[in-house]
Amino acid sequence: MFARALATLLVALWLVPLSLMAQELPQWEIHDRLAFVDVTVIPMDSERTLPGHTVLVEGNRIVAVGPTAQVEIPAGTHRIEGEGRYLLPGLAEIHAHVPPGQDPPTELIEEYLFLYLANGITTIRGMLGAPYQLDLREAIRAGEVTGPHFYVGAPSLNGNTAPTPADAEARVREHAEAGYDFLKIHPGVPLDAWDRMVEVAEEVGITYAGHVPAAVGIEHAMRTGMATIDHLDGYLQVTRIEGVSGETHDPAEVYRATDPERLDALVTELAQRGVWQVPTQYLWNHLNGFVDADSMLALPEFRYISAEQRESYRRANQARIDNPAITEESTLAHREMRQDLLRATHAAGVPILMGTDSPQLFNVPGFALHREIPLMEDAGMSPFEVLVSGTREVGRYVAESLGQDGTFGTVEVGQRADLLLVSGNPLESLDALQDVEGVTAAGRWLSGEAIRTGLDRIEARYRD
Ligand SMILES: [Zn+2]
Repeated sequence: MFARALATLLVALWLVPLSLMAQELPQWEIHDRLAFVDVTVIPMDSERTLPGHTVLVEGNRIVAVGPTAQVEIPAGTHRIEGEGRYLLPGLAEIHAHVPPGQDPPTELIEEYLFLYLANGITTIRGMLGAPYQLDLREAIRAGEVTGPHFYVGAPSLNGNTAPTPADAEARVREHAEAGYDFLKIHPGVPLDAWDRMVEVAEEVGITYAGHVPAAVGIEHAMRTGMATIDHLDGYLQVTRIEGVSGETHDPAEVYRATDPERLDALVTELAQRGVWQVPTQYLWNHLNGFVDADSMLALPEFRYISAEQRESYRRANQARIDNPAITEESTLAHREMRQDLLRATHAAGVPILMGTDSPQLFNVPGFALHREIPLMEDAGMSPFEVLVSGTREVGRYVAESLGQDGTFGTVEVGQRADLLLVSGNPLESLDALQDVEGVTAAGRWLSGEAIRTGLDRIEARYRD
């Protein structure tokens, strides 16, 4: 009883800052109807473009897509001139973080959500839950907070929160009851606790995603229905040449010890089972390697985060430079290995979802996606395939794994109006995704001008 009263109180306290949030950065424009007039549509149902088209949005849905001359635009519709521009489904950051803890600063929450939108991201999947995020999800859904659709992972299941089968069962039941969209797995879950989690999750109808605990292993994880495996976690345990380990070999040698046959067996089974991979290559390059912090922090996106955050990145990178086990050679060998793993994964037909794990090490929310994308291409994904991983594949994931409305991720009549307007053709160069001229999520509109204004305001907050 007390817990429930406290929960209500927390929700009430939370609602006050939510309304304050509305004054800091540009907010959604809400129109009954929107028309993107005379735009080139990239529908993402197949690899094609539809020049000279008009897309009509009513409420949160697309209601017409056709050659401009054939689409009647009712009076009072908000018109967005599309000539010379491209309209595609909004992108997703499927390994996102919003500020952690139960009571983060509201400006920071607002900023993260804005940075995602400013980079064309209309869907995020939160990978470390806290109760406030359930309220945030609903506030976004209701249009009270400007942000991408938010699918909320539960607080982590790991060796501390789920050390026994009974603990695992209790966590699954409480997280499902609280209304989280899926379970987030971290390392440390023992095998017996995992197996109980699987049973109870099946019973209550919730899926699980994230890391592969070492005691479980990727083979058991995929055979027991893990929905998404993030960071290519668990691969090394089963793809490395047997007998090569950090105890007997130096790190670069360990990274070069992928056994092609074992890798092939793994990716073949992952493809058969359709287990989504969220590679997060850009982050992992930094987690198991190092870079020159000065040149990294000189990249334009770092103007949108605080000096403290930049310093924390610098310190984390320095710890890697100071670690004798991480050398320039091992950094390169590790990168090459991860690219090889992703190349094999994609070539085998394993489904891939777009994600970065922002704001971990050097990953600025939203902008990190544009650092991840070249690595996806380098591993053999075409621009169209990269876009699939951030659009219609996300709709399929939401429908099939989360059991929710997955009618988004293509530009077609009846789909949810999650759209991204850009000034160049991303099928020719994915760099075009960086010139955002506006986004809609569920038909709510944020113009390119509003995006530039918001980014300027965030930059001004952090100017040193
Ligand atoms: Zn993460």
